[in-house]
Amino acid sequence: MREREQADLVLYGASELVTPVGPAPLKGRKLGELKVIRDAAVVIRDSRIVAVGRTRQIRRTFSAEDELDVSGLTIVPGFVDAHTHLVFASEGFRPEELEMKAKGFTYMEILARGGGIMKTVRATRAASERRLAEECLRRLDLMLLHGTTTVEAKSGYGLTPEDELKCLRALKAADKEHPVDLAITFLGAHAVPPEYEGRPGDYVELVVSEMLPRVAEGHLASFCDVFCEKGVFTPEQARRVLEAGLEHGLKPKIHADEFSDTGGARLAAELGAASADHLLFASEEGLKAMAEAGVVGVLLPASPLTTMLGRFADARKMIKLGVPVALATDFNPNCPVESVQAVMALACYCMRMTQAEALAAATLNAAHAIGLSGEVGSIEPGKKADLAILDVPGHEHLGYRLGSNLVRHVVKAGELVVEDGKLVYKRGRRAGHRS
Ligand code: ZN
Repeated sequence: MREREQADLVLYGASELVTPVGPAPLKGRKLGELKVIRDAAVVIRDSRIVAVGRTRQIRRTFSAEDELDVSGLTIVPGFVDAHTHLVFASEGFRPEELEMKAKGFTYMEILARGGGIMKTVRATRAASERRLAEECLRRLDLMLLHGTTTVEAKSGYGLTPEDELKCLRALKAADKEHPVDLAITFLGAHAVPPEYEGRPGDYVELVVSEMLPRVAEGHLASFCDVFCEKGVFTPEQARRVLEAGLEHGLKPKIHADEFSDTGGARLAAELGAASADHLLFASEEGLKAMAEAGVVGVLLPASPLTTMLGRFADARKMIKLGVPVALATDFNPNCPVESVQAVMALACYCMRMTQAEALAAATLNAAHAIGLSGEVGSIEPGKKADLAILDVPGHEHLGYRLGSNLVRHVVKAGELVVEDGKLVYKRGRRAGHRS
């Protein structure tokens, strides 16, 4: 008998293994086309996926130091959360605003009354860098328990050069100390701070001339984002920030057409942005331009839900137009949602996406929105071994089950980091670095 090839970890006996096939993002009808293997096994070596197939065939070919029986469970790619505002002081949560929203105050009205984001900014400015990092670590633990293995994380609650840099450094520290990988985005142009009230143009100059060079110099972020909206930053100001970001090597992202059509989708297409996010009011012309340019549309259905907007982005139209659609939580004090699974259910129930579409949007397409679809977002040989193992017999439970955590185990970079619903990684040591 031929000697079996040695591996680090084999998961075997899965009821189903389901994955989109990359690295290109899935669009149109292809968005719902997933690869499904029954009675599946995955082989992992050196934090990477080596082979995927039927259990019998895999066990004939490979043996491993560690083996995990996942009978009756479903393996999917670890979720990629492509849009979060992870870093803020926890005093900046705003549960009191839920009642105001229920009484009919809009997001922009609450903001105009000095509430909303400004409360979070005050709390975040008062917090130390280490405190902020610790809070990020706790939030990442919660996300990991829900199957999320890669997270995009934005600054944007500092709004001074020192405080923005502090937030980015806190994210860097959290990335280093936690098994979840972060893609870090500089969002200095998140809002006009009170010191610059009525002078958004002057604040944009501060972002461009002082913050961006320091962010680039410290290698503190990979992306630059801006909140392009009526009453916040105009499309011209957004362009100024994103073009300056590009000059410093930061890829553009944009909060676009969330409450009105400001031409954000078109701007994203013109600049070749990695993504345009929200898009509730994006024009058909803007969406077509995005499809043409291959800009990912990151949809955040938990955000209009928690803002009580009473409408959602038109996912079906975007899919029809060929926009690569991704899903993300938009985790922030206005949208306190850590679970990508919850967002997948909202995508199905509120935007009429199918469960298969939602899974591709929350994994491979989300990875593409942060430039990592060659690395994570699908279960294919060569990719990082990031897996969520669900306590259900089939993937169609994802999106269908609302509000429950279906995750039993999580593998991050080849290492079991959540076992039977509990965190089992060692703090301060990154997954995949065997010691
Ligand atoms: Zn956002």
